[in-house]
Amino acid sequence: MKHKASQTKKAQKNSGFSSSKKSTRTKYIFVVGGVMSGVGKGVTSSSIAKILQFRGLRVSAIKIDPYVNVDAGTMNPTEHGEVFVLDDGYETDQDMGNYERFLNTSLSRDSYMTTGSVYLNVIQKERALKYKGKCVDVVPHVPLSVIDQIKRAAKKEQADVMIIEIGGTLGEYQNILFLEAARMLRVKQPRDVAMVMVSYLPTPKTVGEMKTKPTQYAVRTMAQSGLAPDIIVGRSEIPMDDKRKEKIAFSCSLQPEDIISAPDLESIYDIPGVFLDQQLDKQILGKLNIPISNTRRNSRAIHAWRDFVTSSKTAKKEVKIAVVGKYFDTGDFVLSDAYISIIEALKYSAYKQEVKAKLTWINSKDYETGKRKVSELKKYDGVLVPGGFGSSGIEGKIHAIKYVRENKIPYFGICYGMQLASVEFARNMANIKGATTYEINPRAEEQVVTILPEQKKKLENGDYGGSMRLGAYDAKLMKGSLAAKLYGTETVSERHRHRYELNPAYTDRLEEAGLVISGTSPDGKLPEIIELPKKEHPFFIGVQYHPEFKARPLDPHPIFTGFIKAAKKRQ
Ligand code: GLN
Repeated sequence: MKHKASQTKKAQKNSGFSSSKKSTRTKYIFVVGGVMSGVGKGVTSSSIAKILQFRGLRVSAIKIDPYVNVDAGTMNPTEHGEVFVLDDGYETDQDMGNYERFLNTSLSRDSYMTTGSVYLNVIQKERALKYKGKCVDVVPHVPLSVIDQIKRAAKKEQADVMIIEIGGTLGEYQNILFLEAARMLRVKQPRDVAMVMVSYLPTPKTVGEMKTKPTQYAVRTMAQSGLAPDIIVGRSEIPMDDKRKEKIAFSCSLQPEDIISAPDLESIYDIPGVFLDQQLDKQILGKLNIPISNTRRNSRAIHAWRDFVTSSKTAKKEVKIAVVGKYFDTGDFVLSDAYISIIEALKYSAYKQEVKAKLTWINSKDYETGKRKVSELKKYDGVLVPGGFGSSGIEGKIHAIKYVRENKIPYFGICYGMQLASVEFARNMANIKGATTYEINPRAEEQVVTILPEQKKKLENGDYGGSMRLGAYDAKLMKGSLAAKLYGTETVSERHRHRYELNPAYTDRLEEAGLVISGTSPDGKLPEIIELPKKEHPFFIGVQYHPEFKARPLDPHPIFTGFIKAAKKRQ
């Protein structure tokens, strides 16, 4: 598998899209949430995008986050979940990962916006005299800037259909300007815009009946913004019956076919199928005034997708993977949202080999306090240390890595997990006792992992936002190495997000002690991949980048696949 190949072109092939079918006008679908947040607007949007892609349309997606942060990069992952990095280095919300994975495409910075980024654009434009002396107002200039960006993204992606997910819930102050943008675009292009409301239908235990009233109220709230839904997707624990569909349709001025049931399902990848079964694709085409006869369902692509979903259910055997990290707990809850792309990447590789990856989240601090012992890791078929920041839990991770290296348990280190594997190897194999990383101690003598020179200046200037080494960079692979075998290519392009790097001043000593540096930047200067030779360890690899961002359901990532294979073998 070549990750360098244009994902977009591949996506088109997979979807059966042919450029001759391209319509001249982009159509827009705004997806908004009613009743409450957290009901899966992102997955609903991705699934709508997918079923339209199945019809041969060229579909792209935009996520709007209403917060003032200019991007998601400055937010704590425990609070906001994973920061998903695009090829161009933009740090976005995890929903962008869903879009890329469902659509098998790679998106760019124009496909993401926040209140902060929109205002920043407007203010920069004002400072550059681009408004030509006019008074710049919140309305219309801010929503117009939103529309500009949507159109720019649509053009860049040559989209037949653009899905725009507006974060937050109807009735909140935060997303009003984005709803206003939807309204303005709809007034200008009434035949090209459809509104989808994703709502929640509770079934209170004491009542025993699915209630539609909150959804009715959400539609009224939407009316305050001058908008009405064309489609309502009802999220619920159990499927919605016809009676409920009729009731919502009648009270919200829609037809029963416009009300779609999206019950809780075993897998999020089931949802496109559930939508197809309810003919949502045809319904939406009607709302967008796209003649149904201009498109057709691509049954080959649908089959391939359904086969993937089936494989996720038929796998019986499990491989046990321990993820040793830190962004797991908030209060009494364990939160794995911070590592969503890693979870998905492990799943795809596992399904392909007819196993399930059973993940256990281990807080590395527990190895420092003695709450847990690293020897427990022998119970697992593989250990993964994901990316991370700061000094807490670091010694626990290093401890865990030492144990899996010595006990030949398959190891996969990602970003910080690669840097700490280097530190561990330096300390215990290359006899560099004080080995550490600049991130923990900038004054330490033995900085086996050190700061990138350009990063040092940025930190001194307090320049933290969007300033890491970000986005896609090429790496060249060493012939015959594990990495080269897994990828099957000589060069790869992968996405990065880091400030620190394995210090080139130490690579000779590490190599002498047996570490293999199997991937570097094309100029050979920056180490990108480390590994141990097969005779020393069955599977030990660390990568400076984040391969999880490029794993796709039907196109699993080769390193994750190699890791799962090694775990399967150990079993
Ligand atoms: N904290 C490390 C760095 O900035 C690793 C970053 C990461 O794991 N994404 O280099």
